[in-house]
Amino acid sequence: MLSHFERDLDELKEKGFTDILHTVSENDMKFYKGTMKDFIKKSKEKGFTVTVSPWSYGLVFGGEAFSEFPILYPEACQVTQDGRKLPNACFNNLEFIHYMKVWISAVSDMGTDYILWDEPHWAGGGGWYALKEGEWSCRCEKCCQRYQEIYEEEMPLLWSDRIQSFRKRSMVDFIQEVSSYSKKKGIKNIICFFPNRINFEVPNEWEAVASLESIDIFATDPYWVGSNYSSKEYVEYYVEQAVKIGDKVGKEVQLYIQNFRIEAEEEYKVKEAVEVGLQYGINYFYTWGFNSCAHMSFLASDNPELAFLQYYQTLQNNSTS
Ligand SMILES: [Zn+2]
Repeated sequence: MLSHFERDLDELKEKGFTDILHTVSENDMKFYKGTMKDFIKKSKEKGFTVTVSPWSYGLVFGGEAFSEFPILYPEACQVTQDGRKLPNACFNNLEFIHYMKVWISAVSDMGTDYILWDEPHWAGGGGWYALKEGEWSCRCEKCCQRYQEIYEEEMPLLWSDRIQSFRKRSMVDFIQEVSSYSKKKGIKNIICFFPNRINFEVPNEWEAVASLESIDIFATDPYWVGSNYSSKEYVEYYVEQAVKIGDKVGKEVQLYIQNFRIEAEEEYKVKEAVEVGLQYGINYFYTWGFNSCAHMSFLASDNPELAFLQYYQTLQNNSTS
């Protein structure tokens, strides 16, 4: 509802926000394409820089949304080593790459400035529809064919380091393909990989993707909910690693601050996380999400106003000091 949205935009402006991220899901593409275009137009008229993300697209990007892709293209989805078909799209499948290019053309037409390639992951990698114990993907026809071409051997049924490398390589190639396509349309690209909450780990594809010519910004989103570490320790570790990668490949670093499922009395953690980013020299912040997700029961914080305030007030205080 554009008139309601306009009020929210004014409120954000007042609170010092400069950028806005619009999620563009498969549902939006089907039923709200023109509406999303109006939202983005309105955002830009009000002076906001606009980013969009492929919200849960093909169930291989971050987001709380359903995907129609497995209904339309069941043959282009991931398959486990035992042949079980999954609902998640396969990064090596040309149908999916085409599906993403249709999305890129649409968001380009909507007038976005940036695309956030948000948390791309293989099935089971922290997304919806967990795999069963011992299962891995993808061993679809396309993956088997590509694996054979690269390693000159049949793709094994048993998990190995080589399969791990193959998956990482496939992910890097996929991001390169889609981000180059959007780059050609004049859109800037941000990559964000979801950090491991259980163990501190910096997978090598982070740097590989960050160093791609088509990638402009390297982002990290250390959301501490469910982490094995204290929020501060967790944020600090991944911010430090992201800054290291950014320095190495010469890209700006963007930091996403958790603003969902913040429990009562823990709102100070939002402030602490922003302060960690500032200490490490980060200038480009986002928070997930608007009004601490008060409108969404699945993600809402206990005291959304207070949690949201901790974010923008900390940045406001910093910019005036
Ligand atoms: Zn596959």
